[in-house]
This record gives sequence, C-alpha cells and structure tokens, in this order.
Amino acid sequence: MSGWSIPGWAAGECVVCRRGDENLCIKPCSIGVHRGGGYATHLLVPHPRYLFDIGDIPPERAAPLACSGVTAYGALKKVGAQLLKDEPVVMIGAGGVGLMALALHKAMGGKSAIVVDIDPAKREAAKRAGAKTVIDGKAADVLDQIRAATGGGAWSVIDFVGAGQTVKMGVDATIKGGKVIVVGAVRR
Ligand SMILES: [Zn+2]
Repeated sequence: MSGWSIPGWAAGECVVCRRGDENLCIKPCSIGVHRGGGYATHLLVPHPRYLFDIGDIPPERAAPLACSGVTAYGALKKVGAQLLKDEPVVMIGAGGVGLMALALHKAMGGKSAIVVDIDPAKREAAKRAGAKTVIDGKAADVLDQIRAATGGGAWSVIDFVGAGQTVKMGVDATIKGGKVIVVGAVRR
C-alpha cells in the first residue's frame, strides 16, 4: 500500500507501545529526527497502519495535521465531548499546536477558549484564530483573570508548554474536579 506517512513511529515493542500509546514511546523514531527520510520522496514504513490517504488535501496542508493536528486533537479528546460543549477550555501557549487546537476546538463544537500566553503577538494570533479571551501569562493576577473568565475556575486546562511553571498555573487555575492536560514537550 502507498500513501502519506505519519511523521514517525515506534518499534512497538516496549511496555508503553504495548499499552497502545505508541505516540508516547520511550524510544521514538520521528522521521527526520531519529531516522532519515524527513525530506525524502519515498519512505519504507514497517506497517500500513502508518499510512494515511490524504485524498485531495494539498500535502502542505496535510502535513501539520499529522503532527500538531493529532496532538491538539488528542488533547481535546481528553477534555471530553460534554465538557467541551458545556465549559470554556483554558489553553496555555498559542504556538503552532495551540493555534491548531483553537481551530479544532471550534470544529468539535467547543463552547469557548481562553488562551494564556506571555507573548502579545501570540495572544493576538489566538484572538484572530477565535479565542474568546486572551490573558497575559506574566500578569501578576493571571489566576484571578482565568477565574473571572471561567466563572470561578477552569474545568479543563490544556498546557501546550509543559514547563513546571505552566503546569502549576494550570493546576492552580482549575476548579474542584477540573482537569489539566499536559501536552508540551519540556521533559527530562
Ligand atoms: Zn515503544
């Protein structure tokens, strides 16, 4: 079978892969990072499940969907359909994945999005991408602003930065029973 490959795959043999979380493999094999082929016209993949028929979508539009797209979609799915419809989602970080999440959130019928970022240009981009409220992550009263925008605290926070500081902010911003989904790749 031929088609368009996802950006990477794992050996599928470790305990994480066997649990079905191949995307979290401790020995990842991202194409162009851990193995060659990032700019290749042809590539051998170990299994057809890594191939996807993109149909009429131009490759330059399909490529980010396979990376930031599935990442953002996975995070939004973890929020849960009902919560997405009922409550605003707080998103920390409006880089490529965060902006992708804003677009998908809208497409998934999300109620509204509150975006926290320390960069004014990124807050502006988030606003243009449909964020209802944008908040400066460096503001001294950032938690009060999140509580005000969510009506008392966030039911769900998606942290696209994943640093200690932002994870703490996310936890502190939640209401009782709220959840924090950490996506960012700042890891040791
Ligand atoms: Zn693995």
